[in-house]
Amino acid sequence: MEKKLTVIPPNQINSDAKQPDNMKYRVAAYCRVSTEQEEQLGSFANQITYYTEYINGKEEYQLAGIFSDEGISGTGTRKRAGFRSMIAACEAGKIDLVLTKSISRFARNTRDCLHYARHLKSLGIPVIFEKEGINTMEASGELLFTILSSLAQEESRNISENTRWGIRSRFQQGIPHINTTGFLGYDKDEAGHLIVNQEQAKVVRRIFQDFLEGWQPSEIARKLNEEKVPGVHGEPRWAAVSVLRILRNEKYKGDLLMQKYYVRDFLTRELEQNDGRLTQYYIENNHEAIVERELWEAAQLEQKRIEAFKKTHQIRELGSGSLEPFYGKIFCSQCGGRFVKKRGKSQWKCINTAGEKRKTCQAQPVSEEKIEEQLSLAWAELVSRRGNLLPDWEKEVSQGNPLESLRASQMQELTGKYPAWQHAAKKKRMLVLEILVAQGSVSTVTFMDGIRLKAGEADNA
Ligand SMILES: [Zn+2]
Repeated sequence: MEKKLTVIPPNQINSDAKQPDNMKYRVAAYCRVSTEQEEQLGSFANQITYYTEYINGKEEYQLAGIFSDEGISGTGTRKRAGFRSMIAACEAGKIDLVLTKSISRFARNTRDCLHYARHLKSLGIPVIFEKEGINTMEASGELLFTILSSLAQEESRNISENTRWGIRSRFQQGIPHINTTGFLGYDKDEAGHLIVNQEQAKVVRRIFQDFLEGWQPSEIARKLNEEKVPGVHGEPRWAAVSVLRILRNEKYKGDLLMQKYYVRDFLTRELEQNDGRLTQYYIENNHEAIVERELWEAAQLEQKRIEAFKKTHQIRELGSGSLEPFYGKIFCSQCGGRFVKKRGKSQWKCINTAGEKRKTCQAQPVSEEKIEEQLSLAWAELVSRRGNLLPDWEKEVSQGNPLESLRASQMQELTGKYPAWQHAAKKKRMLVLEILVAQGSVSTVTFMDGIRLKAGEADNA
């Protein structure tokens, strides 16, 4: 059979792609078993038969040899004659593609696997690990190199057999699957890398920004629908859950967590949900971020804060369809109940008072106007104390967690920029976390940095 060298650019290597009739990949397979286990001898013969038939059965493939080693337990690659002659054939330009059953069959340890897979890649020769569904020329190969490198470092620290062979057990269970479709903000390039889709990235950034300005996921979804902002499938069909999914997706800070699905069967490409059986792989700075890391972390802490707040006050939702900034934030100091307001009305009243379902609370209602007036006094008080509060805010900015740090720097900025409530009020959705009402008047206000002012403090000051 006449052999001819075909150079395949990395971005064209795809096991499903059809090659023109005159171009065939010269494909080699590498098989290896340990003869210590007798039943594997049968599997060895099977592997050879399988690859011969598999390669001959593919129109675009041309058999370039089945290379094999037996009973190599306890030796280095130096003694793997079959492996060595395959590498030599690759270096001589006689092979275009290498197929092998699995990572543990291909190499004896992590370092060898990394070394030879990289070497062949540098020659333009992909290695396909069937069991793991990895092609070293594709994104899955980049992932493999990343994982192998980190494992190799782990191994050099701990040379016990268990760790050395850790790679086997991990990969024998299947490989993590990278889902790069079905989420907003990124496209995939030809090599499978994530690249920022600038138009969609704007929507992602806006969602994080709105959320950290006090808009709840249901409210953000409502606004996006009203503005007809296209979602991931092009339609403006937003729901609270899709907004939350975006707020929680680690890809937006540039990281990649692979745990959701894995490839169970390479031949059928069957995916299975990872229910905790597989090791999770987390790669930091895997691709370009859309949201600053600090901001992303602040959004996670804000979600936790809201969860704790809802639990404390026994409410199901913050925010409302009417987009009221204080909905779910005003509470009764007598019974702990939530203050509610009828659409179009200006009176807030305890949900447990007369006229409502459980007529037990005697709390007086309070007008929206009164609330604003008292917030204005509280804000003036806060601004007057600014000089004393600045050192605390500065400390929070440098030592607090990302949310504390963000809120402290915003407090610094807003108390300086907007000394009058009428101006600060445009940020009230974010600024005010909780309002307690007693005797028809505001008793305490909690601002976003956690500072709590009692009404009347301003009068006494
Ligand atoms: Zn009440």
